[in-house]
Amino acid sequence: MTAMTQNPAVRARAEIDLGALRANVRTLRARSSGAQLMAVVKADAYGHGAVPCARAARQAGAAWIGTATPDEALALRAAGIEGPMMCWLWTPGGPWREAIEADIDVSVSGMWALREVTEAARAAGRTARIQLKADTGLGRNGCQPADWPELVHAALAAPEVTVTGLWSHLACADEPGHPSIAAQLSVFEEMLGFAEKAGVTPEVRHIANSPATLTLPESHYDLVRTGIAMYGISPAPELGTARELGLRPVMTLSASVALSKQVPAGHGVSYGHHYVTEHETTLGLVPLGYADGIPRHASGRGPVLVGGKVRTAAGRIAMDQFVVDLEGDTVEPGARAVLFGPGDAGEPTAEDWARAADTIAYEIVTRIGARVPRVHVNERSGAA
Ligand SMILES: *Cc1c(COP(=O)(O)O)cnc(C)c1O
Repeated sequence: MTAMTQNPAVRARAEIDLGALRANVRTLRARSSGAQLMAVVKADAYGHGAVPCARAARQAGAAWIGTATPDEALALRAAGIEGPMMCWLWTPGGPWREAIEADIDVSVSGMWALREVTEAARAAGRTARIQLKADTGLGRNGCQPADWPELVHAALAAPEVTVTGLWSHLACADEPGHPSIAAQLSVFEEMLGFAEKAGVTPEVRHIANSPATLTLPESHYDLVRTGIAMYGISPAPELGTARELGLRPVMTLSASVALSKQVPAGHGVSYGHHYVTEHETTLGLVPLGYADGIPRHASGRGPVLVGGKVRTAAGRIAMDQFVVDLEGDTVEPGARAVLFGPGDAGEPTAEDWARAADTIAYEIVTRIGARVPRVHVNERSGAA
């Protein structure tokens, strides 16, 4: 038993249902007005494992794969993921040449990036595929409208690059009706119009993320970039639950109960004694903590299905473990504790944990740590 509880594969695991991911991709494609779909697999596919998720998304018809950093995209190529791929978060001195040689579309938001990609293309003796990013109002990455003419003209004048895409990103797509949405779409139209009049003939124009894919058909253009919805999570509570959106959560996080024991009334539980037992009761030890990405902010609130009932984290969530009050129930060590999953077996969802930690479900799944093994199931197309 000791050996087993020390085996990380037994302690806890994040099961990743690739059949659910494929079904979500198909659902999103059906809602995309005929646009192509980019599977966004940055940050290790929001914690789900980038390579198997990229492969599954391709099986379900994702034409494009998208990552934030070039290193993420290069790792996918090294793992054998082929076809259209794009990355957008560049810093000076980045691996431009490697990306060009790996046939990865690179995003360019300003003149410094255009200079670096042009030099790298010349060195590689290949034409770089670049996508110009417009800041239509997000105020993060992207080229300001005032700087757009210079960037567009310089890109057109550089024989080392070809502009394959024009794109942008929305600030408030998760708040339907927010006035910034229409404003951004109108700025995008103007910036597209300028570039196309100047002579750019993009393969793809794109601005929609998951919430825009689900709620804003006029934002679909040639391509939608879906991340969170592909993992079966609602982009925002206001848009409905995953189930209401026809999506199925892909990750199920569970652990093996490490210990259960009887304690008397008045017993403090975990650091700081923020929980004190009211009666004589039983406690269960869940061997997951904030080192594994379980938010400490959910101390006293995070829900867990164990022994057939949803219990609440009693007291502080520690680095490696936390405790639930089993209220006198007997739960054997080794019993399964499910922190979140699709929700149809009575277990909580990542959205429930987001509420318990005052954050968004994106953060819950993405931060599940490297110490938790990912177990990919339904890998083969046709299994779901
Ligand atoms: C992360 C990201 C997306 C995907 O966003 P979701 O809301 O998860 O669909 C799309 N585009 C860009 C630029 C991103 O950084």
